Amino acid sequence: MNARPAENVDTANIVGHFIAGRDVADDNRPLPVTNPATGQITKHVAMASKSTVEDAIAAAASAFPAWRNTPPARRAKVMFRFKQLLEEHADEIVATLTNEHGKVLDDAMGEFTRGVEVVDYACGIAELLKGEYSKNVGPDIDSWSEFQPLGVVAGITPFNFPAMVPMWMFPMAIACGNTFVLKPSEKDPSAPMLVAHLFKEAGLPDGVYNVVNGDKEAVDTLLEDPRVQAVSFVGSTPVAEYIYATGTKNGKRVQALGGAKNHAVVMPDADIDNAVNALMGAAYGSCGERCMAISVAVCVGNETADEVVSKLKTQLEGLKVGAGTDTSNNMGPLITQAHHAKVRGFVDLGVEEGADLVVDGRSLVVEGHDDGFFLGACLFDRVTPDMRIYQEEIFGPVLCVVRAESQEQAMQLIDDHEYGNGTCIFTRDGEAARYFADNIQVGMVGINVPLPVPVAMHSFGGWKRSLFGDLYAYGPDSVRFYTRRKTITQRWPSGGVREKAQFAFPSNQ
Ligand code: NAD
Repeated sequence: MNARPAENVDTANIVGHFIAGRDVADDNRPLPVTNPATGQITKHVAMASKSTVEDAIAAAASAFPAWRNTPPARRAKVMFRFKQLLEEHADEIVATLTNEHGKVLDDAMGEFTRGVEVVDYACGIAELLKGEYSKNVGPDIDSWSEFQPLGVVAGITPFNFPAMVPMWMFPMAIACGNTFVLKPSEKDPSAPMLVAHLFKEAGLPDGVYNVVNGDKEAVDTLLEDPRVQAVSFVGSTPVAEYIYATGTKNGKRVQALGGAKNHAVVMPDADIDNAVNALMGAAYGSCGERCMAISVAVCVGNETADEVVSKLKTQLEGLKVGAGTDTSNNMGPLITQAHHAKVRGFVDLGVEEGADLVVDGRSLVVEGHDDGFFLGACLFDRVTPDMRIYQEEIFGPVLCVVRAESQEQAMQLIDDHEYGNGTCIFTRDGEAARYFADNIQVGMVGINVPLPVPVAMHSFGGWKRSLFGDLYAYGPDSVRFYTRRKTITQRWPSGGVREKAQFAFPSNQ
């Protein structure tokens, strides 16, 4: 698994930036972009300097006044055309996702489609932005609230959903009348660039949507520049915490979505075959590199655990791991060699910590892909809460089975965990399911649904250390996040009535 050294930079093949409707070439500090299935460097990506990011912010700032005043119905027309173009280019975008992220093609299509659904939602912006109106709040006085855009807003996104997560942010931000600067992940930068070109082709005025590739220098510029009004972040918890602290200290509105350790509770009365099928997809889909992946299965009762583990083991024997471009595969490689080493290290650690490694994927070889970042699926049984493999986010194809004696004990485990992104319960008992949904300290809950990722007309967000900020991503919360309320109170005295000076606080007394 040795990627070619980064110094062999093909300067004609460096991903630059998209600023003010134009491609901006850049060879500043290029980092390699790798195809994880082959381990080969396919291109490089430039790391924007502070001044390049400032150019993008300036472009967004100068596009703001006209875009803010564009009627929402006209903004929606651009969104409709954008959605159409996205769908026409779906195969190209999905292939790019697979080549740079590694996920299998149908999984990449799923990601892409869920992103487009947010564009779909943004097409309804004229309805979503409708304000609130009250007539006669006082004599001849009417009052209304309207939702005004903030100005320039920024998004910083992770590697694991290079198309969908940016689309959680910029379509709604832009539909609300803001202008946007995206800083995508440096690991898979090509899909966001493709999408930016399609948005321009849809008729978006130059400067409304900008993409800068980069690292901490770019992010810090966005966090410090006073022209940036709000920041949406999705990524790991330590970085989310940093973004939230720095952005809010600098007076910005911030929503920072972080990491996860999502537990599925399997009750003794559950349809175990269905639960196991669901766990297979939720734990090993996208090689476990999903913030909503199930990484812990809490089985209530030893009999339940024995059956779940034995059936998972059987199913894992048939799991097909290989290049994402081969549509017969279920699971692709991990994103980078470094991440592969980290996840593998967690599997070694689990063995040292005394967990029972029932399925060991460490020795997997994918024929013809010797340099790919493949790791076979791993299954641990008898994991306990004191183990680091239980406490930390592994973000790989590793499922930990924890045995609990009761639903209460299973729920206590979940409530005690530092993360609270997603969870689910498998049961046939409506009362148990209702109690779980009502009381569990987690932001997104599934009942016999392993990946309860809210659809576009709801909003996405976790609790505890999975989200810093108050408002969730996309859906109705995004209208609130990307706008600021203004309340206007207006009087037109009728019949030429002369107003007297009033020294009492105005009321309807
Ligand atoms: P990451 O935190 O390493 O990177 C996310 C973004 O932050 C990238 O654009 C990166 O360039 C930037 N960044 C990284 N280090 C930085 C630093 N020190 N200062 C400033 N910016 C920095 O995350 P990742 O590895 O790309 O993605 C995986 C993580 O994202 C996992 O923890 C996963 O759970 C999380 N995630 C969460 C959600 C959610 O909705 N809660 C969704 C997807 C992924």
